[in-house]
Amino acid sequence: MSAEIIDGKSFSKNLIENVKNAVSGIISKYNFKPGLAVVLVGENPASEVYVKNKILQTEYSGMNSIEHRLPDTITQDDLLDLVELLNNDDTIDGILVQLPLPKHIDEQSIINSISAEKDVDGFNVTNVGILSTSGNGLIPCTPLGCLLLLQDYFSDLSGLNAVIVGRSNIVGKPMAQLLIQSNCTVTITHSKTKNLQKVCKEADILVAAIGRAEFIDESFVKKGAVIIDVGINRLPKDENSKSKLVGDVKFTSVSKVAKAITPVPGGVGPMTIACLLRNTVSASCKRRKIKEPEM
Ligand code: NDP
Repeated sequence: MSAEIIDGKSFSKNLIENVKNAVSGIISKYNFKPGLAVVLVGENPASEVYVKNKILQTEYSGMNSIEHRLPDTITQDDLLDLVELLNNDDTIDGILVQLPLPKHIDEQSIINSISAEKDVDGFNVTNVGILSTSGNGLIPCTPLGCLLLLQDYFSDLSGLNAVIVGRSNIVGKPMAQLLIQSNCTVTITHSKTKNLQKVCKEADILVAAIGRAEFIDESFVKKGAVIIDVGINRLPKDENSKSKLVGDVKFTSVSKVAKAITPVPGGVGPMTIACLLRNTVSASCKRRKIKEPEM
C-alpha cells in the first residue's frame, strides 16, 4: 500500500486564484484594494524568506502590500507605536508581525496590541477566545490550511478520531479547536504524553506539529490513517553540500501504512500563505461591513 498524496501545493494555487478573483471583484465593486502590512524585525534568514514570499503572493493576488523592516535594536515601545499607527490606518486591513521577535521584546504584548479585526495571523487573545467559543473570528493560517485540506479529503469529519502531536499556540491548540468544531474526537499530545505511539495509533487523522525531523514513523500510525505533517525541518548538509527539508513524519515509512499524507515540501507549507491572503480579504470585508466573497 502506498498512501495517496494530499497535494497542498495545487490546493493552495487554486485558493490563491480564488483570492485573486475575490480581490478583483472587491476592487471593481467597492473601489478599494485590501491591504496587508508585514512587519519584520531583525535579520532572521528564515523570516526573511517567509516575508518575501508573503509579499510576493500578496502582490500577485492584487492586494496592497506594505512592508516595515526594523532593526533588531528597536524597543518594545517603538514597535507598539508602529502597530498602533497601522491599527489606525484605514488602508490597512491586515497586520502581520513576523515571529520570532528579538528576546527583549515580549511577543504576546505585541500580538495582543494588534487590533483583533486586523489580526490576520489569528494569534491575539481576542481571536483565540473567539475560536474557542466557536465564533467567527480570524483563524491562525497554518491550522486553517490543514483543516481545508482535511475538509477537501473527507466529505465529513464527524466522529473521526483526531490526534494532534504538539500543543503550541500557533498550531497544536488552534488545530484542536478547529477539529472539535468539525465534530472530531480530539486528543492533543505533547512531550509529556505517556505511551505516545499507542495514543497516535488510535488516530484516523494524525496531525504532527512537533518540530523534530521525521519523528513520527510507521510505528505511530494506524493502517489507513490520514496524516497531516506540519513540520518543516532543514536537515544538515549532506556530503554533496545539499540540505534537505523534511517534515515531522518519516514520509517513506509512514506512506506504507497511511491512506493519505501531506508531503514536505508541498503539503501544509504553501497552505499557510494562501490562508493568510484569504484571512486578509475576510478581515477587509468584515471591517468594512461588505459581503465576503466565496474563496
Ligand atoms: P513548538 O516548538 O512551539 O511546539 C512543538 C510542540 O511539540 C510542543 O507542544 C512540544 O511539547 C511537542 N513536542 C516536542 N517534542 C515532542 C516529543 N518528543 N513528543 C511529543 N511532543 C513533542 O512548534 P510549532 O508548533 O511552532 O511548530 C511545529 C512544527 O511545525 C515545526 O517544525 C515548525 O517549523 C512547523 N511549522 C510549520 C508551519 C507551516 O507553515 N507549515 C507553520 C508553523 C510551524 P511541549 O509543549 O510539551 O514542549
